[in-house]
Amino acid sequence: MSTPNWTLAERAHKMNPSAIREILKVTEKPGIISFAGGLPSPKTFPIEAFAEASAKVLREDGAAALQYASSEGLPVLREFIAQQLPWDVSPDQVLITTGSQQGLDLVAKILIDRGSRILVETPTYLGALQAFTPMEPRVANIACDAEGPDPADLARQAAGDGSAADRARFVYLLPNFQNPTGRTMSDARRQALAESALAAGLPVIEDNPYGDLWFDAPPPAPLAARAPDNTLYLGSFSKVLAPGLRLGYLVAPKSLYPKLLQAKQAADLHTPTFNQRMVAEVIKDGFLDTHVPKIRALYKAQCEAMLAALTREFAGLGVEWNRPVGGMFLWLRLPAGLDSVKLLPLAVENNVAFVPGAPFYADGGDPRTLRLSFVTASVEQINIGVAALAKTLRQALA
Ligand code: PMP
Repeated sequence: MSTPNWTLAERAHKMNPSAIREILKVTEKPGIISFAGGLPSPKTFPIEAFAEASAKVLREDGAAALQYASSEGLPVLREFIAQQLPWDVSPDQVLITTGSQQGLDLVAKILIDRGSRILVETPTYLGALQAFTPMEPRVANIACDAEGPDPADLARQAAGDGSAADRARFVYLLPNFQNPTGRTMSDARRQALAESALAAGLPVIEDNPYGDLWFDAPPPAPLAARAPDNTLYLGSFSKVLAPGLRLGYLVAPKSLYPKLLQAKQAADLHTPTFNQRMVAEVIKDGFLDTHVPKIRALYKAQCEAMLAALTREFAGLGVEWNRPVGGMFLWLRLPAGLDSVKLLPLAVENNVAFVPGAPFYADGGDPRTLRLSFVTASVEQINIGVAALAKTLRQALA
């Protein structure tokens, strides 16, 4: 009998076990207070609305809901999405995806060749790096400040060494309440980036899963509204309804749509029909207009609780953090000499967990950074967890 000989494709070697998942294994300890996961609060899941909608969909449209359907997605859902976006979008440009994570995967498949240069924020969403990496791009970081990427650096890096082969294929941007830093681009920064990218002939991938989760005021208009033909926009129902539905969408310039559709067909034919119909049923009479404000209020209160706890517990420890205006995440920078990856096991001993910042950098990055989610733990847990983190820091500094 011959030995089976599975030869892995080169691209499979590029797929790494999620650095985060490996790191977070230590956090799977019972009773731990975790600020690590990027999980929406289950309190916000509209379970009753889905119970009613699923019964109704099965009763009234059962056969269609359980049948194969078009790869583009459910027409009423595509119309709803096109209508609620703040620029002129035709439903023909909307492709329903199996989570916006699939949108990132499709983008990688149709836009990246081996060795293509692509530009990302510093740091950026780890899941996007994971989607892009198997296509073997060369990933370049754009210089960033508290408002996001520097438009001048974007223009400089778009061209690369000036040769056609070195010109960046796209820049991947997260304007609202970025994962992992929680930062938001100002109106002026968005305008400058949109103009700079357009002038440089650099297409933009704009990822916006958190945009509806603002605290006091809606964020400025997306880049897609400023340069629609130069932007491929990704959205999601994960943070406003429930991530387990795996329901996202992309809005593509018309010239790009057919290729994305072919990639989508090859990937999974279409996004589950039943989930699309249930969501269409739940949201059809303005449900999100009353539901999303409740999520905003909850997350704002949780964020304020965490900021207050940090101010109280971290006084004099030399830690810096930002003040997000929406979303789910806070970003911390530890004093010089500390490394958040090394700190994590000690934190876990003290029954609290976070995500180290380093995996979010395309090039290794700043070991002093870490991400805290303020939405999954209760306010009581936030107070206990932040005190445990402060204790951990004092131990590490001693
Ligand atoms: N983009 C960003 C920035 C995210 O944080 C996430 C989820 N953590 C996704 C995309 C993927 O979301 P989903 O596939 O659930 O729509």
